[in-house]
Amino acid sequence: MRRVVDLLLHLPRRWEDRGRVVGVAEALAGPPGPVLVRGVLSSISARHVRRRLHLTDAVLDDGAGRLAVRWFNQRWIADRLRPGAEVVAAGVLGLGPGGRRQLVNPELVATDDPGSVEAIVPVYPPLGPLAGKRLRRVMRAACAALEGLTDPLPAPVRAELALPGLAAALEALHRPPAAPSADERAAAVAGLGAGSSPAHRRFAFDELLAMASVTAADRARRRGQRAAPIAPSPAYRRAAATLFGFALTAAQRRAVDEILADLGQPTPMARLLQGDVGSGKTAVAILALLAAVSGGRQAALMAPTELLAEQLHRSVAGALEPLGHRVGLLTGSLGAAEAKALRGAVASGEIGVLVGTHALFQDRVRYADLGLVVIDEQHRFGVAQRRSLLGKGTSPHLLVMTATPIPRSLALTVYGDLDLTIVDELPPGRLPVRTEVRDPSARERILAFLRSEVASGGQGFVVCPVIDPSPAIEAVSLAEHERTLRAALPGVAIGLLHGRLDRSERDAVAERFRRGELGVILATTVVEVGVDVPAASVMIVEGADRFGLSQLHQLRGRVGRGTRPSWCILVTGDEPSEAARRRLEVLVKSSDGFEIAEADLRHRGPGELTGLRQWGLSGLRFADLGRDADLIRHARDVARRLAAEGELDGVRRALLELYPIGEGWSGG
Ligand code: ADP
Ligand code: MG
Repeated sequence: MRRVVDLLLHLPRRWEDRGRVVGVAEALAGPPGPVLVRGVLSSISARHVRRRLHLTDAVLDDGAGRLAVRWFNQRWIADRLRPGAEVVAAGVLGLGPGGRRQLVNPELVATDDPGSVEAIVPVYPPLGPLAGKRLRRVMRAACAALEGLTDPLPAPVRAELALPGLAAALEALHRPPAAPSADERAAAVAGLGAGSSPAHRRFAFDELLAMASVTAADRARRRGQRAAPIAPSPAYRRAAATLFGFALTAAQRRAVDEILADLGQPTPMARLLQGDVGSGKTAVAILALLAAVSGGRQAALMAPTELLAEQLHRSVAGALEPLGHRVGLLTGSLGAAEAKALRGAVASGEIGVLVGTHALFQDRVRYADLGLVVIDEQHRFGVAQRRSLLGKGTSPHLLVMTATPIPRSLALTVYGDLDLTIVDELPPGRLPVRTEVRDPSARERILAFLRSEVASGGQGFVVCPVIDPSPAIEAVSLAEHERTLRAALPGVAIGLLHGRLDRSERDAVAERFRRGELGVILATTVVEVGVDVPAASVMIVEGADRFGLSQLHQLRGRVGRGTRPSWCILVTGDEPSEAARRRLEVLVKSSDGFEIAEADLRHRGPGELTGLRQWGLSGLRFADLGRDADLIRHARDVARRLAAEGELDGVRRALLELYPIGEGWSGG
């Protein structure tokens, strides 16, 4: 912490009612949680258990009951404790060894000095070596600086949302009111609870506005940039109509129309194509790429993994090379000489479409005339990468695609700078994938089912959470499961697919599976993207309770791509909790990616949503993305309005000064 205001933003976790002191018996009979107990200290002992674990134990006794007290790593406390002294201990009542009630890390409040017993005190999370009373004293001193703070939020915005000013909000949390009656104190302490007081909302809003203003600034900058409009050649429509062996769905056609309209503008497109797994985004991307190359420009298509880049390259080359456009593949594992030759062909414009991993945007790669950039599975790249890519000075049109629907409220924050196209329709003829949750005791029957599927022409995936057995992770490993699988499926060709194989090995396995030479692929989550085989009809996920719902939904998307009825079987770990089971049931009932993402958010919190860290949303201190949906919307609207009024820059800078939000957001 560098400034007093940093200290002031260290908000109290809760308020404690120091007016209500109970006896030991009453504390033992009450619910767990914060309490203030009066009693006499006895049986004081301190010991060093191991590095970083020092325990001080004592007993609080008032004749009517005995309560165990324990301090963790507070070596000095034993010296202050006098056996036989009457004290009031303010701490949190929890369960100790043997399930007995225990008071943890209490602060001792002097009973003989009425001036030091405050009615309501703020309780702060420890700050380095500072905690309890000492930290409170520091915070009290810091409050002297409240007067001099400038508020980053313009007054009209505060008024509109009925938010307190910065100093008032800080004061409200750091200086609890003097509340004389027990009822008033109880009400005040409870009111601060859930983090939803006006003061809390103020800080949550500030943080969200900081983020939204970065996004809005990006958006405004892009709006101000110029791009060469792309006009597909007259032959484009004819070629497009016969490019695939299928007719586009209405949703795909709509998406292509929106993209073509954007490409025709003199400002760069910034569009997000969101569509569930299997909705056919690749076909849409290929038509966008064709529009660019048929209009005489170059295009780049970026994928998060080599496997996916290779598969995309196959699809794109298969469609566009017969039309006379050269399609190159650039990944990190290309030999130096090959890469050099490829870069030469890109620089000369000979190659029209370059597919690859992030290697596509190394400084060494020069494009003759890059008109369009398409990013697949954008959620895997993250805001920071997307922003750095766009900051390269040139302003190509940009299309990003994702199969990970995220709750709409979050989309506003994450994708606030992008226009949105949703492909909300699956190609015709798809049967829904039947999903079931099983525990490991059913494994034998599950494998018998897999055997019969393979015998009748189907193919299957078995996914394990880890490659090697590990004492730290209690889950079936791929290595262990391979033996089980080979024993249960005699005569079935099984291929392994995981991140430790090199590219050519992975390629070979995927290719053999595609050709039907392998009946089963045993894999880690690398199959989440990349392998597209219509005959695949069974997806078995081991240790399914270890995965997020959205990730399982992605895995499920690997099957049911053809016309064969398909199954997804989620095998739990040995003793799944009731909650874990219920969470997996969401997948049984729903195949709607949005609904599933919402459930992920509800069940595991935003920190667990796939890709949230990459999006830069995991570092929020004050805002809660589940709770503050309305504030997210307000923040976006306010940021856009400030941009229109020319006031965004000042506000954004002031906010980022106070709230250093995630790296991906604060740059630029
Ligand atoms: P995703 O949106 O998950 O990237 P893909 O683009 O990989 O989906 O498409 C999934 C499968 O659906 C592919 O095998 C593709 O050839 C097929 N497909 C795409 N569009 C259609 C369509 N309109 N009709 C029939 N099949 C389609
Ligand atoms: Mg895809």
